[in-house]
Amino acid sequence: MIPQESAGWELPDWQRQQADLITDPAELLALLELDAAELPGSLAAAQDFPLRVPRRYVDLIEKGNPRDPLLRQVLSVSAELEVAPGYGPDPLEEGDHTPVPGLLHKYQGRALLVVTGACAVHCRYCFRRHFPYQSHLSGKRWEQALAWLAARPDINEVILSGGDPLTLTNRRIQQLLDALAEIPHLRRLRIHSRTPVVIPERLDEELLALLSAPRWRTVLVLHANHPREVSDSLVDRGRQWQRAGITLLNQSVLLAGVNDQLETLVALSDRLHEAGVLPYYLHQLDRVAGAAHFAVQDEDALALHKALRASLPGFLVPRLSREVPGEPAKTVLAG
Ligand SMILES: *Cc1c(COP(=O)(O)O)cnc(C)c1O
Ligand code: SF4
Repeated sequence: MIPQESAGWELPDWQRQQADLITDPAELLALLELDAAELPGSLAAAQDFPLRVPRRYVDLIEKGNPRDPLLRQVLSVSAELEVAPGYGPDPLEEGDHTPVPGLLHKYQGRALLVVTGACAVHCRYCFRRHFPYQSHLSGKRWEQALAWLAARPDINEVILSGGDPLTLTNRRIQQLLDALAEIPHLRRLRIHSRTPVVIPERLDEELLALLSAPRWRTVLVLHANHPREVSDSLVDRGRQWQRAGITLLNQSVLLAGVNDQLETLVALSDRLHEAGVLPYYLHQLDRVAGAAHFAVQDEDALALHKALRASLPGFLVPRLSREVPGEPAKTVLAG
């Protein structure tokens, strides 16, 4: 096989996939052989937060099943337009933790860089669906954030987030890492990304070389919610990355109709482990406007977690957590 890099002018496979996303609800419904009766609501909801799905991910969805748990995460639906009390545009009050544009600092020792507003997929439950990316990314881009980090020796971990940092090209990531590498007190590099779940080819050799550089202790936190999202291709790459010394973790969001069944969560943990990934967090949904139909009650979440603990080895049980604005860490409901 000819490695992608040698194709010269041609874009890497993952970038081609990212340039060829499904954005039209009618196309998604047609590809999955689904009834178009839901189309008007789907179109209306997509005006609020656009539909965006890679084709490789659509291959994982069962045709003709309107309740497929993967479909539910990506298809815009009219329920998003219903107003729910307690659900707002900025549930985490992130606006209060932004010392300079593009940087969030909430927790001791760690700072989160919003390096892009783009994502490879739009997850309908996303708490950043109303995030004011423009105000974070405009103007001088990363410079102010880098200057802030350089002046804060108490910060030893930088978290690349977004949006999704792995939508950036390897060259752009390299530029950012080169700049961060100049800041001596930064030791841990963490990347939060859902892209490898929807486009596993994003975990390419070039990126692995960048992230396994001896300068960093690198942690890649994936975001898979359902065992079927952990494709064979992701398993192969996960194992390879684990062997290369990258710590691989996963965070999920507990979502009604997606992964709120014991068997699903057990299978997810097991499948992640097959890919060399350990479960880290199982988040209770952030109360963002448009996502109320995904909520799982706390008592149900706690019961599920208890059953999970009784079913799996401790290292395959994620911490059930919630983000409470103003707290010094994420709030663990059950560990
Ligand atoms: C979630 C989050 C972190 C990381 O928290 P961990 O508990 O270390 O995973 C850091 N900064 C911000 C702003 C966060 O939202
Ligand atoms: S990839 Fe992450 S940030 Fe992007 S829409 Fe999905 S949950 Fe939100």
